[in-house]
Amino acid sequence: MGRKFVVHNGVKMTEDWPEKIQAAQLLTHYTITGQKYPRIRFGDEGHQGWGQKPCLDCGVLKGQFHVPDCEYEKCPACGESRAGNCRCDIEELRDPGEVPVLPSGSAKRRKRDLLGWIFVVVCFLLLLRAILMLFGI
Ligand SMILES: [Zn+2]
Ligand SMILES: [Zn+2]
Repeated sequence: MGRKFVVHNGVKMTEDWPEKIQAAQLLTHYTITGQKYPRIRFGDEGHQGWGQKPCLDCGVLKGQFHVPDCEYEKCPACGESRAGNCRCDIEELRDPGEVPVLPSGSAKRRKRDLLGWIFVVVCFLLLLRAILMLFGI
């Protein structure tokens, strides 16, 4: 595929990654069940020595926010070691692939409902015809 790499903060990363780090700095809070939680900056996790070197997973420096879904980012709500991998439903980390699945699923269901209705109408007409035949019409 020929993915290009760059060196940023002394860390080798794909060339689009520095942009992601920039974007991550603008995301200061996570929203969990409608409540906003300030994100934990790299080095503020309470682990001795963290922040001495750029983050091993996402390459940010001490005091920066991790790139969302970094395995070293703590969840601000429950304190688990990987935000988004815990029980909390973090709106900003929801898998965008999950969203488009719902409308197509309900469209399919609607089509099945329509077929069901046609079946009911046809049965009703046959029943009506049978009743009319009983009366000799
Ligand atoms: Zn990180
Ligand atoms: Zn959590």
